[in-house]
Amino acid sequence: MGLKTFKRYSRHITRGPRWKAIRVQALQRDGWKCVQCGEKVGLEIDHIKPVRDRPDLAWSLDNLQSLCGRCHARKTRTEAGLKPLPPTRQAWRSLLQKGL
Ligand SMILES: [Zn+2]
Repeated sequence: MGLKTFKRYSRHITRGPRWKAIRVQALQRDGWKCVQCGEKVGLEIDHIKPVRDRPDLAWSLDNLQSLCGRCHARKTRTEAGLKPLPPTRQAWRSLLQKGL
């Protein structure tokens, strides 16, 4: 399964006012920083157990964690069965993200 298919599972969850509300709850709980590296910029909410595997936990605060874009992308790639990007490419990509 490709990355696109994998992401599609959570896309319909992460739209709409209900998601916005629970997203803020998760961010507040985690202190508005990435739980993995402490980054405070570009935070995203991750489903600890992917929506694909546990759709019943899609709205459970216990199944959510705050991650920065870099940590989130890395986790998503691993879950989708793809190899993580080589460190040099990863660094370059995050540089680009910060510049935007
Ligand atoms: Zn991070």
